[in-house]
Amino acid sequence: MTAQILDGKAIAADIRENIQSEVRQMLANGQPPPGLAVVLVGENPASQVYVRNKRLACEQVGFYSQLHTLAADCTQEALLALIEQLNKDPAINGILVQLPLPQHIDEETVTEHILPAKDVDGFHPYNIGRLVLRRPLLRPCTPKGIMTLLQRTGQQLEGQDAIIIGQSNIVGRPMALELLAARCTITVCHSRTKDLPDKIRQADIVIAAVGRAHFVQDYWVKPGATVIDVGINRLDDGSLAGDVDFDAVSKKAGWITPVPGGVGPMTIASLLENTLQAVKLG
Ligand code: NAD
Repeated sequence: MTAQILDGKAIAADIRENIQSEVRQMLANGQPPPGLAVVLVGENPASQVYVRNKRLACEQVGFYSQLHTLAADCTQEALLALIEQLNKDPAINGILVQLPLPQHIDEETVTEHILPAKDVDGFHPYNIGRLVLRRPLLRPCTPKGIMTLLQRTGQQLEGQDAIIIGQSNIVGRPMALELLAARCTITVCHSRTKDLPDKIRQADIVIAAVGRAHFVQDYWVKPGATVIDVGINRLDDGSLAGDVDFDAVSKKAGWITPVPGGVGPMTIASLLENTLQAVKLG
């Protein structure tokens, strides 16, 4: 069996096109464009690439975007003051502080400083709490993008057994909440989980968010399962690899996402969707 490819790049392009026409309509109605402020602290090369891609996507759909760069040694107070200013700015509907932040800055304090209605990353405890209660508003971008991918397979999610490998606050945990809200039966695994391959073998849907190249093996995967690869791992030769052994697993799975071109573009598409949604919340 050869898996069907869940083409995140193409699905994200569809979403961007729809957003672009909605923005054109807003402008034609005399409304301002949705505005996203991106805050980058320090010079982490991966963060610089992510921020550049997010801003390019904004420009492409006609959003107004601002980039605020702060030095790696800036104080937490200076960052909080900038967020305060963006919270009050009517031209800004969404605020994104690129993580990770330098060690001397407390990420939770920063996240909680963003107005929940402008929290387009969906990381604020208010937005996570809404998701817990099955009344989501702004949803974390990567899990949201994965739900869109899963819906595009046309499969019924209700009643499926889903396993999430990884329990981070930005991917694994909100992913579990999304799948639970979609009435899947969920298993969340992490570095202390026993008998991981046996658990993965039971699953109809496998979400790999571990951060280890080629971690998920073909003989762990149930034939026909849907396999979503969140991982972005840089190999020694400079190429990118996911958390799934794609060549082998794609011969066993029913659906699979590639890396690159799977979850990554969907994360950015979800960010654009959230920013548009934030206009309506504001
Ligand atoms: P993280 O390091 O915060 O979490 C990794 C999780 O994997 C942890 O919960 C840990 O317990 C678990 N884990 C580690 N070793 C394990 C093992 N042997 N067995 C089972 N579980 C194990 O990472 P994260 O921020 O959730 O990101 C995960 C990966 O996804 C990274 O490669 C990251 O770059 C990528 N990522 C991609 C996107 C995207 O848009 N495509 C977005 C966010 C993160």
